[in-house]
Amino acid sequence: MDKVFSAPRGMKDVLPDEEIYWRNLYRAVEKKCEGFNFKKIEPTIVENKELFDRSVGKETDIVNKEMYEVKRFTESSEERASETLCLRPEITAGVVRTFIENMQSEALPIKLWYFSPMFRAERPQAGRLRQFYQFGFEILGDETPMADALLIYLSTQILEKLGLKKSLIVEINSIGCESCRPKISKNLIKYLQKYRKNLCPTCQDRLKTNPMRVYDCKVLTCQQVILEAPQTMDSLCGGCQTDFRKVLEGLEDLEIKYDLNPRLVRGLDYYTKTVFEIKDEEDLNRQSALGGGGRYDNLVEFLGGVKTPAVGAAFGVERLILKMKEKNINVGELPKPKVFVVAIGEKAKKNAITLIKFLVEKNISQDSALGRESLKSQLKMADKSGAKYAMIIGQKEILDGTIILRNLEVGRQETLDWKKLEKQIKKVA
Ligand code: AMP
Repeated sequence: MDKVFSAPRGMKDVLPDEEIYWRNLYRAVEKKCEGFNFKKIEPTIVENKELFDRSVGKETDIVNKEMYEVKRFTESSEERASETLCLRPEITAGVVRTFIENMQSEALPIKLWYFSPMFRAERPQAGRLRQFYQFGFEILGDETPMADALLIYLSTQILEKLGLKKSLIVEINSIGCESCRPKISKNLIKYLQKYRKNLCPTCQDRLKTNPMRVYDCKVLTCQQVILEAPQTMDSLCGGCQTDFRKVLEGLEDLEIKYDLNPRLVRGLDYYTKTVFEIKDEEDLNRQSALGGGGRYDNLVEFLGGVKTPAVGAAFGVERLILKMKEKNINVGELPKPKVFVVAIGEKAKKNAITLIKFLVEKNISQDSALGRESLKSQLKMADKSGAKYAMIIGQKEILDGTIILRNLEVGRQETLDWKKLEKQIKKVA
């Protein structure tokens, strides 16, 4: 037997069954982003791997373990040596790359949104896929704490539109800027050294490479150690303290409830100052935020651009859809065809084509299954389609120049005259 193919491990097809969720989600994001005057952007899916080494960080799991390389089967080793391409594991680095390339000289701030696929070779499980979609937003060129608060507001507005607002928890922290980060790290390392033995091997290494990452290690013993660790908030410089206070005041003015989470640092290297995650209250103890984000004031400069403060957030589409299903949120239905055209026999099928053309020209949605022969099987398809009416052409109707119009909801039917169709079709429209 020939090989039967299936979707790659950890990747999932989006089937028509789920379309109503995707459509609701996309429309909610689009509407709210437009309401805040964000412009849509779609950076390339494939990027230079170095972009992520330098922004997300070489030591992160995303870059270190989960990245997919993209190469041509016929690529020479010289070509490969000059540039390594990869599927993007996240999009902020790409947005910044295209900002530097194309938008840097425009008036700031620039506000962008996206709805795009990402790729991470994680261990597949519910809500954790190897190809997944994120939507999100970036504000480039605004250093004020109001931008942070407004971005969180936009996020909660979208989640509210999806029916998820009631159970949301916004967790927030500040991890400081380049001037307070050394102090934060020093205090942390001093504390962690005392408990070195209790840390997992990775965190023992992190003491040297990036001690902040110990805060969100998933290993239980590390979590126990971190419980008593100095909090980033205690070592913030004056500027970061003021800014963080203003972000929180902004949230209060916007009537957004938040929880301070001193252990929240987020996994990527580029964050500065505000970091946040939005979770559902049922998932508080699970590592499964619906989304998150933060400030990245140094990233543009770090990637070769003019220093531009920025803040962004990203949400997982599949994870939100799971949540909407879990909560039985009413997502409505996809539109159904108004008319299902049924035809019995060769001649009738030919007339059916003319009838379909007529309906299309009248802007009446229609469907048919002309590959099926019997009346019964075509009517079965009509029922399945959810059409309100069937328009039936059989042998008799061909001879009479008529069409049967059956109201499938009430089961009543009447006869229409081809010659008067122009007028009679108003009953359907
Ligand atoms: P991150 O920037 O890694 O925090 O990702 C932001 C959001 O994207 C998360 O809160 C999830 O909702 C979603 N996400 C991240 N990784 C995955 C994955 N492997 N599968 C599905 N969704 C994901």
